[in-house]
Amino acid sequence: MTLRRSHDCVRCGTSIDPGEEFGAVDVLDPVGELQVLVCVDCAADLRAFLDGTTNRKPGDSSGSGDPAD
Ligand SMILES: [Zn+2]
Repeated sequence: MTLRRSHDCVRCGTSIDPGEEFGAVDVLDPVGELQVLVCVDCAADLRAFLDGTTNRKPGDSSGSGDPAD
């Protein structure tokens, strides 16, 4: 996929220019397929969320985050 014009990241609004790296997310709505573009930072966040590698563990409600050194 190649960008022919600038797009805004659908998540944070950062401008994505042709030639820059970006992420593309395919989603569905009642009308059909949608493809949205996200910047590299948001793509990384989204990947971490989908992989379950965000800081919060499922079922862990202690809530204080990572153990501090
Ligand atoms: Zn973004």
